[in-house]
Order: sequence, then C-alpha cells, then structure tokens
Amino acid sequence: MAEVTLKHIKKVYPNTEKKSKKGQKKSNLMVTDEGVLAVQDFNLDIKDREFIVLVGPSGCGKSTTLRMVAGLEEISGGELLIDGKRMNDIAPKGRDIAMVFQSYALYPHMTVRENMEFPLKLRKMPKDEMNKRVDEVAEILDITQYLDRKPKALSGGQRQRVAIGRAIVREPKVLLMDEPLSNLDAKLRNQMRAELIKLRQRIDTTFIYVTHDQTEAMTLGDRIVIMKDGIVQQVGTPQEVFDHPANIFVAGFIGMPQMNMFDAKLIEQSGKYSVELGGVSIILSEEKQAALAKNNVKSQEITLGIRPEHITLAEAGKDAITGKVDVSEMMGSAIHLHVNACGRDTIIIVQTMDLTGGEDLSIGSEISFAFGGNAVHVFNKES
Ligand code: ADP
Repeated sequence: MAEVTLKHIKKVYPNTEKKSKKGQKKSNLMVTDEGVLAVQDFNLDIKDREFIVLVGPSGCGKSTTLRMVAGLEEISGGELLIDGKRMNDIAPKGRDIAMVFQSYALYPHMTVRENMEFPLKLRKMPKDEMNKRVDEVAEILDITQYLDRKPKALSGGQRQRVAIGRAIVREPKVLLMDEPLSNLDAKLRNQMRAELIKLRQRIDTTFIYVTHDQTEAMTLGDRIVIMKDGIVQQVGTPQEVFDHPANIFVAGFIGMPQMNMFDAKLIEQSGKYSVELGGVSIILSEEKQAALAKNNVKSQEITLGIRPEHITLAEAGKDAITGKVDVSEMMGSAIHLHVNACGRDTIIIVQTMDLTGGEDLSIGSEISFAFGGNAVHVFNKES
C-alpha cells in the first residue's frame, strides 16, 4: 500500500556504439554527451492501490523504468518517492517492493512452500506465522495442492502463480511485474489476466505492470502509460486513451484492429469544421469542433483516423464512400472487411453481424460505407 511518485526520471546508458554522434538517434533513442537516453523526463503520480501499466513496443524503456523503481537500475536523473520518501539511493530491500519476472525466477531445489517462505525467512518471521501466510496466499492463488512440489513438476502457469505468491506473501507496498504472462500460451494468458484482476481486489498493494501487449494494458490498468523511444506519449485510463489518443502513435498502438489512417483535408469555414475524404464531406461533432476552435486551427492537410468498428456499411450515395472488398474475414459475431478505397490499399471495417443487412460482402464485391463526425480523429499530418 503506497503512493509512488516519479519526477523527471531519466536513464542514461553508456553509448557503446562508437559511430553515433551527439544529437543523432541510436535505434530511435536520443544520444547525448552523457550516453543513450533510454528514459526521458518520466513524470507520474501513482495513487495508493492503483494498478498502473507501462506499455509500448520493445525497447521503449518500460523495463528500465520498472527496474529503476525496484532499485535494480541506478536512476540517472530525477526523483523517485515512495510515500513521499526519496528512494533514489535506497537499496532494493529497503524499498518494500516485490518484483515478478517473465522468467519466474524460482529456486529449482526448493519446494513451492520453501520458495514462498524464502522472503519471510529473510525477515525472520516466526514459523507459525510464516506457515499461515503461505497457506493464505496459496489459497488465493489456487496452488495449495502443489505446495510440496518442486518447480520442475509444475506447468508454466502454475510456476507463474508461485512466483506471484512468493512476491505477495510478505505484503509489499508495491508489486512490480515485468511481462509476467509473456511466457504463457494464449489461453493461459487470458486466464491469468482474469486471475490478476481478481488478485488485485484481494491485496492492498500498488501495482506497476510492464507489458508490450495492449490487451493486457487495457484490461488490467486503472491507468496506462504509453511509451515510445524512452518518452511517455500519453497517460490515461484505458477509455481515455482509446477515445482521445494524444497522437498518431497512440492511436495506432491502442485498438484492435488498428485505427485506419488517411490523408485528408480539414476545412474551416466561419469557425465551422469539416473533413473531406474520398469526395465526401463530414461535419465534425460539436466536441471536436470546440477543441479545434479553441486552438484556432485553420484549413489544412491532416491525417484522419477512424477506428474500424466506427465505420458502418451504407447505401451508395453522396454521403458514402465506395470501395471494393479485398479480404473478408468472418469472425463469428463480426466480420472484418479489408476494403480498397480512397486510393489506399486497405481500409479495415469491422461490422457486427447483427448490423449487416444481407449485403454481398464477398471478395471483389463493391460496398459503400460511412462514418459520423464524432468517429473521426484529427491529427497533424504525419511527417
Ligand atoms: P523495454 O522494456 O521497453 O523493451 P528496455 O527498458 O529493456 O525496453 O530498454 C530500453 C532501451 O535501453 C533499449 O534500447 C535497450 O537496448 C537499452 N538498454 C536496456 N538495458 C541496457 C543496458 N544494461 N545497457 C545499455 N543499454 C540498455
């Protein structure tokens, strides 16, 4: 149970690549005189018992940030506070934090019970209390029947439960998890994700969780932090980042299938905004109009984003765009259509089956589609 504050946190690794010069980017990370900037100016106030997820593509600095919180990696700049106390120079064991790794990191020669007792033994907890704690946590994680087994006699999912058990048995203030489900197969991952949602209701801990998987981020996080190239792109609730992505990267990263992006035109006329795409003009919603007007945005070329599930099939006509079905994927309750239109290779449209009206959606057929002014996202043109 704790508040965690990251203030202007930065991580610089030595630059081992001789060729990259100051100001140049090495694998998209900024290189300075000091070295490679793996994390830049990371700011976040994490509330007590909040579940924060750091998400982004491989190499964006998620693990480095987590390891700085854990004390496994030195903080190059900025301040880390736990419950208001500066932690930068406090050793990992003085931070009252536990960490769960992708690789489980269990002791192979110890039984499950001994693995879980280990952190309590280090704290010299009396045997009776230790037994009680281990039994309670084993029950929460449904591993009671494996307490006398060695890790090698367990499945991947069971091992990960033991690793989580070992981390939570001493009731840490903060629980850090680094891609804990990545080694599990898809079915088990879904099951463990649901288990984690239940677990957090039962323990009084602040969670910081790292994943590259947007589904895990969206389903687990109270708030999610989306990172790219060592820089935080957006912090918000899953709904906020889905509905109001801060930029094209976030828009493309969050949502499945990916948001469609188009080159389009924003038209401003006497303070009213519309967008033009594929010969169709769409008046923006009041909310979007207000946001653009506030920033005094003028007519310009833009990148227009539309989520596949916000496009609807329509009658051909002046308000609809027409295209040809290239791929048609039947998913049971919905159909995913890849459509060639607007001079683009593929526009993805997701249509739930109860909304389709017997149109021919087979490959090669011509269809028309439309979307409302509240479904479009306006971004500065991608450079
Ligand atoms: P993520 O967890 O998002 O995949 P990391 O935090 O592991 O990313 O890595 C961020 C960047 O820092 C990467 O470019 C990685 O190569 C680099 N990096 C990570 N650890 C080290 C290290 N010990 N020394 C030098 N560079 C590192």
